[in-house]
Amino acid sequence: LSRLRRTEPSVRSFIHVADAAAEREAEELDRRIASGEKDAVGPLAGVLVGIKDNLCTANMPSTGGSRILDGYRPAYDATAVRRLRDAGAIVVGKTNLDEFGMGSTTEGSAFQVTTNPWDDSRVPGGSSGGSASAVSARQCVVSLGSDTGGSVRQPASFCGVVGLKPTYGRVSRFGLMAYASSLDVVGCLGSSVFDTATILSVVAGHDKMDSTSSSQDVPDYVSELVSLDLLESKPLNGLRIGIIQETLGEGVDTGVISSIKDAASHLEHLGSVVEEVSLPSFSLGLPAYYILASSEASSNLSRYDGIRYGRQVSADDLNEIYGESRADGLGHEVKMRILMGTYALSAGYYDAYYKRAQQVRTLVKESFKGALERYDILISPAAPSAAYKIGEKINDPLAMYAGDIMTVFNTFSFVDVDLCLL
Ligand code: GLN
Repeated sequence: LSRLRRTEPSVRSFIHVADAAAEREAEELDRRIASGEKDAVGPLAGVLVGIKDNLCTANMPSTGGSRILDGYRPAYDATAVRRLRDAGAIVVGKTNLDEFGMGSTTEGSAFQVTTNPWDDSRVPGGSSGGSASAVSARQCVVSLGSDTGGSVRQPASFCGVVGLKPTYGRVSRFGLMAYASSLDVVGCLGSSVFDTATILSVVAGHDKMDSTSSSQDVPDYVSELVSLDLLESKPLNGLRIGIIQETLGEGVDTGVISSIKDAASHLEHLGSVVEEVSLPSFSLGLPAYYILASSEASSNLSRYDGIRYGRQVSADDLNEIYGESRADGLGHEVKMRILMGTYALSAGYYDAYYKRAQQVRTLVKESFKGALERYDILISPAAPSAAYKIGEKINDPLAMYAGDIMTVFNTFSFVDVDLCLL
């Protein structure tokens, strides 16, 4: 906690810091352990966690990074948060994000800019930038983020931590503010694979409050990890790994390419077979993603009407309340996506944009399926570059979107539900 207090003024990972409450919870835990209640404390007892601010937390602000939810305090915890608390974890605060998860740098937050702990002139990535910087600066041990098209994987890469996007449906989304419902997942960030696997084991699993959550059993991720004997000379013997050729092509920094190649030769050294594999639909992922995600967002965000949640404006009639709350409360990027999505779903344009994007999504999914019949694992960079300067892409949305090319492509790979516009 003292480290958090010391580093927060320069990193600004948190929209809301709950350090005093966390301290009280920790003391209470100490008291229980001292009085012999050792068994009553869970497997994550005392572990400090950061929670992305688009996940609801009971009696703590939950803004989604948006002015429109300024002052909103949900009455309940998101299921993933509840499960962490039940295991003994202590929520230390709500981490910064691009408004409603739309962005790749965390500069799109209505409240503050988070800096990259490795270099404060650079972005931490996004949209779960605060969750990544908090772990990277060791302000908390692990954190939760959300990933629709890269928002856990890309900031983890920019901040040098481990980011895990679980399969769609693996973790309940009850209490997650919806961005694009057919793609949104709750993800985990930690400073090691072990930590990330540990929290996934706690948060994963079916939840009756989220009908899209999977009822498949949750494997024991941690013991599977520990059973891999890295002291053996060839522990990965027999594993077939494909490097997606197109992800090492034009527009990708040479440093990124050489890191991936180094990792590949290390994997070979450990006994696996590594080959390049071509997935020609790679470049189609980006345009299809932005059509689909914006379309779903335009529908999902209609719930922020100035009446049900957050800030109230006083106005003479209902339309004025809607109009003024949204005009004041939503930021530029969010408005732009609502407009793009509404356009793509309009009569007359639906077939040209939305339907085609759905077809591309199927195509991408099929090409992944084909490759995974030949390889156990596919690898690619998480982003075409390392963390760039704050402000560098903020006025150039297309350049910012282009940075998502690696993660939006494989976000389509394992989605088995048809689109649900709620
Ligand atoms: N950067 C992507 C976007 O802006 C992904 C965001 C996310 O995964 N939430 O849509």
